[in-house]
Amino acid sequence: MHSKNKQTHGFHTKHALGQNFLLDESLLDTLCDLTGVGEEDNVLEIGTGMGTFTKRLSLRAHQVLTYEVDDSLIPMLRVFFEKYENITLIHQDVLEADLQKDMDRVFDAGHPLRVAANIPYYITTPIIERLLISASDAESISLMVQEEVADKLLAGPREEGYAPLPAFCQVYYNVRKALPVPASCFNPQPKVDSSFVVMEKKPDPLWPADDARALYRAFRKFFALRRKTLVNTLMNQFSFSREQCLSLLSSLQMEEKVRSEELSVPQLVELHSGILKMLEEGIK
Ligand code: SAM
Repeated sequence: MHSKNKQTHGFHTKHALGQNFLLDESLLDTLCDLTGVGEEDNVLEIGTGMGTFTKRLSLRAHQVLTYEVDDSLIPMLRVFFEKYENITLIHQDVLEADLQKDMDRVFDAGHPLRVAANIPYYITTPIIERLLISASDAESISLMVQEEVADKLLAGPREEGYAPLPAFCQVYYNVRKALPVPASCFNPQPKVDSSFVVMEKKPDPLWPADDARALYRAFRKFFALRRKTLVNTLMNQFSFSREQCLSLLSSLQMEEKVRSEELSVPQLVELHSGILKMLEEGIK
């Protein structure tokens, strides 16, 4: 592991923590522009690094809450942020944090929330899952991700990469690749190129944000048995009888032989809603 670590501005970056820093000021400014962060916004950032993006965001935002797990960065960041009163640094593994509780404690109420981050790639999926569950009321979620992940987040029915997470994002957000960012823009350089993905909140999200967790759980079940038809998946994952599944699909005007990966995002939401109704009515 040590052989993979490099020096950046006198600091030994840690490959295992996904430390690929952005130091180019004009790129950081462009990213800030793309996030749409303005003076009324509260901003959540994951992965402070050397604080370069944090500082720029703080100059435009009302408040910034940022998480960093690496002990060795904290003393330097505490000194660096002394001048920036609207930055709160939390020294913690973001996957162990209660994001909602921290935001309630740190942020002034009544300000729109935006998420903006150059995230550590080794935990991309759990970060996005947590953001959608805990911050699904955010006006936008702008994240640096690997190019391949960006393509997946945009995937639709029958396309490679269409899966619970992209579908879940598309329930609440219009997702776009806002800027390609070559590996050469990072210090040290990662092995892959990246893309800055901007997710803007839909004017009419397809499902209530406060039920996001249950919706995602259902999406994961829908995609659990990829090669099977939806009827077989529902029988397996929800213990419904074949007749119940066929009647559910027919009430939703879905083909008997359809597979989950052929359903559009609104159809996946309708399926979740149909199952809830079926369970409520006790047809089971
Ligand atoms: N924002 C900085 C930038 O753009 O230069 C740093 C980005 S770097 C890709 C990701 C940062 O996330 C690193 O500083 C790393 O230490 C931090 N990190 C890694 N795992 C983390 C975790 N579980 N919780 C919080 N921060 C983490």
